[in-house]
Amino acid sequence: MLNLDDNITYLKGVGTERANILATELNIKTVRDMLYYFPYRHLDRTRYYPINQLNEQLGWVQIKGRITKVDVIGEGRQQRMIAYFADETGLIQLVWFRGIKWIRSSLKLNEEYVVFGKPSEFNRNLNIVHPEMETMDKHKQNLSAALLPLYNTTEKMKTRNVTSRTIHNIQIALHQQIKGSIHETLPAYIIEQLNLMKLGDALMNIHIPQSQAELERARFRLKFEELFYIQLKMLRIKGHRAKAFGGHRFTTVGEYFNTFYSKHLPFELTGAQKRVLHEIRHDTNTGYQMNRLLQGDVGSGKTLVALMSILLAIDNGFQACIMAPTEILATQHYKSFCDLLQPMGLPVALLTGSTKQSVRKKLLDDLASGQLKIVVGTHALIEDNVVFNNIGMVVIDEQHRFGVAQRAKLWKKNNTPPHVLIMTATPIPRTLAMTLYGDLDVSVIDELPPGRKPIKTYHFFDTKRLQVFQFMRDQIKLGRQIYIVYPMIKESESSDYKYLEDGVESILRAFPPPQYSISVVHGQMKPADKDISMNYFINHQADILIATTVIEVGVNVPNASVMVIESAERFGLSQLHQLRGRVGRGADQSYCILMSGNKLTTDARQRLQTMVQTSDGFAIAEADLKLRGPGDLEGTQQSGLDINLKIANLSTDNQILIIARNAAEQVLDNDPTLANNNNSILLSELTRRWRYEFDWGRIS
Ligand code: ADP
Ligand code: MG
Repeated sequence: MLNLDDNITYLKGVGTERANILATELNIKTVRDMLYYFPYRHLDRTRYYPINQLNEQLGWVQIKGRITKVDVIGEGRQQRMIAYFADETGLIQLVWFRGIKWIRSSLKLNEEYVVFGKPSEFNRNLNIVHPEMETMDKHKQNLSAALLPLYNTTEKMKTRNVTSRTIHNIQIALHQQIKGSIHETLPAYIIEQLNLMKLGDALMNIHIPQSQAELERARFRLKFEELFYIQLKMLRIKGHRAKAFGGHRFTTVGEYFNTFYSKHLPFELTGAQKRVLHEIRHDTNTGYQMNRLLQGDVGSGKTLVALMSILLAIDNGFQACIMAPTEILATQHYKSFCDLLQPMGLPVALLTGSTKQSVRKKLLDDLASGQLKIVVGTHALIEDNVVFNNIGMVVIDEQHRFGVAQRAKLWKKNNTPPHVLIMTATPIPRTLAMTLYGDLDVSVIDELPPGRKPIKTYHFFDTKRLQVFQFMRDQIKLGRQIYIVYPMIKESESSDYKYLEDGVESILRAFPPPQYSISVVHGQMKPADKDISMNYFINHQADILIATTVIEVGVNVPNASVMVIESAERFGLSQLHQLRGRVGRGADQSYCILMSGNKLTTDARQRLQTMVQTSDGFAIAEADLKLRGPGDLEGTQQSGLDINLKIANLSTDNQILIIARNAAEQVLDNDPTLANNNNSILLSELTRRWRYEFDWGRIS
């Protein structure tokens, strides 16, 4: 009997050569790998595409029609045969380079054929190279497999003749060999409750669908299972953490918080800010550790929420810190914290990689003794020599740059872990948040402070540069400041620097000193130089700041009202949104100008269009997820979770995800440790899927 962990060479139709190519190209090594290599689409073989609607993007299609003419062109190796194939709507060329003689003799004019293949464009004509074809009569007889699964293959596989069809055939052989021997991976009561298809049937129908309805049920079952186990894992982490560690209890809302709220708050809090503060106050008074993700769009006022959460900790006799991903951002937080807390006489310290040794020593002493209550910093905060007396609250700004392990380091600084508030730089789609941060509670600031003027966003091709320069001059005349950002995909890439240098030169020509003043900041400058350049701009000594993405997060210069993004097509959506968020912070109308070359890929065009059309960070995050898929989104790599799902799709399967989450919650509500007999299968699946036992201590 075949075992799922057996090597695929045990399968009929898979010899060592095919096994090799499947392993190297698709990472398929075992029978299970093959079974779980799902088709990306199923082709309904009872339907036909109208020829006039074909295009290159469709992939495999099926058409029906008749051959009107056959030509053989060229000689020898150059020879090819073209059959002109027509339906009521149009004409397409079928092309052969090999086997011409034989195929020509078998093709009949005026016979109805069904053609199956991938349309591609050649010399401006759409054609299908080496199509599969059969007469309509034969096709009708063969319709047992009406739904044909299509599998992704690589170029290399094609050259070795391992096609989607090959994989399909292997799957058929596989199912004959393992018939009835696939063990169920979900408890019977869940299957019953949700009326799920059994695993064996689902795996069979996804590869060899018996009908459209059964295929749908198979898909649902497999997607559900994939999402369910992720949710179960995340919720177990969450539950375990609450149980194992407890948390500091913040019982009072004390003097600092109240004084700040009534006397020093620079503006009325938005409803959303108030709601989130309520959630945090509730969390911190339960006796459990808070682990909360704070989502909010750029400029929604997360910093203030952080500051007030920190005051809550101080009022209850604890220390608190806020950690930012860059030195610039930490410094900025430090300054705004100082401004806001000075009136109450509450000292704040800054700790970064460039804090001077003498200052650092005193700072560390004061932290250890508990004399210093609030510290703002970068990664420097998680170094081993940083010891707190009693840290009660950790705020992490711009989460995606900190990995789970880094968060955990802060944790170890106390016996009872501090409350943790994680703030995202940009919104994350709900489905992704539930998956990546499924172990956290989530707060959302879904309201911008009042009186913000929407930023006007335009897309210009590079050829319109002079117009853009003129617009910039007009804005400078009005007293505004301008950012110009260049992509620096890899800080090390010298070609990118050349690009920046050329940019600086051309800007200097168009905006010559002394009439205009320009400041430059990029990632390879020394921190001190960076600060000088930044401050030059912050203090309005410079009209224009030319920068790479070092300014991406957090910088706050309210008088800067124009953001020009060069080669905008090279940035991702969330990055563009972040950059745009640097303007629109003052009272003036702000503008974001996206410059790009004339030639744009479909994806790039859509990204730029999305930016022009919407400024809602949540909508942009959804669009980003659709365009890029979850695996490429920022933050997913660091999350430590393999988000490249096999069948579920986080941008389209919201419903199933919610069902899976509810099911997992229900399971753990009834049986938190999964000790019941009927849940034993869940435990063994969790371990099999994630191989290791959860390393609870490492999870913050
Ligand atoms: P982000 O959520 O992007 O970190 P910030 O906390 O930097 O946003 O806030 C953006 C700007 O909005 C800051 O200048 C801040 O002072 C201001 N702000 C925050 N909350 C309010 C509010 N309730 N009313 C008016 N302005 C606010
Ligand atoms: Mg911020």
